[in-house]
Amino acid sequence: MKIYKRWMVCLLIMALALSGCGNSGKNAENGQPAGIQKADAESGQEHADGGSGDSEAARDGTEEGAGTGDSSADGTAQGTDSKDKDGAKDASADGKGSENGSGDSAADGAAQGAGDPSEKDGKTKEPEAPALNKETAVYSREEVVTTSSVNVRTAPSTDSEVYQTAARRSEFVRTADDGTWSAVELDGKEYYVASEYLMLKSEMKDNGFLVVIDAGHQGKGNSEQEPIGPGASETKAKVASGTSRCVTGLNEYELTLSVSLKLQAELEARGYQVVMVRTSHDVNISNSERAAIANNAGADAFIRVHANGSEDSGQNGILTICPTSANPYMGNLYSQCRSLSECVLDGAVNATGANKQYIWETDSMSGINWCTVPVTIVEMGFMTNPTEDANMADEGYQQRLSTGIADGLDAYFGI
Ligand SMILES: [Zn+2]
Repeated sequence: MKIYKRWMVCLLIMALALSGCGNSGKNAENGQPAGIQKADAESGQEHADGGSGDSEAARDGTEEGAGTGDSSADGTAQGTDSKDKDGAKDASADGKGSENGSGDSAADGAAQGAGDPSEKDGKTKEPEAPALNKETAVYSREEVVTTSSVNVRTAPSTDSEVYQTAARRSEFVRTADDGTWSAVELDGKEYYVASEYLMLKSEMKDNGFLVVIDAGHQGKGNSEQEPIGPGASETKAKVASGTSRCVTGLNEYELTLSVSLKLQAELEARGYQVVMVRTSHDVNISNSERAAIANNAGADAFIRVHANGSEDSGQNGILTICPTSANPYMGNLYSQCRSLSECVLDGAVNATGANKQYIWETDSMSGINWCTVPVTIVEMGFMTNPTEDANMADEGYQQRLSTGIADGLDAYFGI
């Protein structure tokens, strides 16, 4: 079956490459259109990057993308990334980079502040130990939550020892906040966390779930090759150029970003934390790097947004893609991916009234195989079908798609 399917997909890809938009309906009958599209989608995604596929690059990519795009995604991506890494890596050296910006003034102020009083009052603190800035500090007990993985330090300075790295959404009781550093209680003692990574628990609308959205493809594909999975000898293009449109003139990479941005807004309004793989077309992020972004962010779900194409212009409807249970790279995530794919498909179909295709299980997608988090690809519709192409170019329809995908995520998480 597999071999047959893969063979068919290859044929289809070749056929697609040779032909323009929309053709015969063979695919449709065999369920191949999906294959084609998927293959399309994936290769497309995988093309994009020009980078070398390592996780570092991927991270950069995320941050840049977010930077270009929207502020919220940015904050999240950067926050998670830099803090996380700093926190996890090394407290003093690395940590400085990210925490310094905010930590500088505090640390300085603290050091001086601490020096003075200690001489006079003979307090227990060592003379040189940094302390909160007393001029700006507000002392009150309140419950706070970390908005990112962040260092918990023994003193309010990036030079201080990291007592532990708190995961995103860790809860603390804060006893003081000077605007840069917050004092928190932990294990019966006082520690310090950069204030910008804390928010009042009472003001937290975060529902606790982090979703990474990959707007499929990019402005220019990247035909350089990368392994289709960890340790794989088989390779695929880093990012394909994407499905071509027939009616509206919209490119797949434009459509996927347009819907992805709406999905981001919808999810954030529902309390999700969202990280965007890209927010502009001018990126070069391979499929494996896109997976790495989701992995590094610790995504609870990774949604890869694509549109389909078929040689049969009559083909229409939505389908989702997940790995098989025998996937050699991440088959352990099969049941989660399957459930995610079912929920997203149902949500999108219910919200749009589009034709329900099916869930394609395949191990040929690099952007899935490299994942260590639950993932699905949603093929929102066929750009080779005149009606569906026009629908997908419509802002209202795009919003319904986004609402439907968000409904699917709610269902997946049991919200
Ligand atoms: Zn695609």
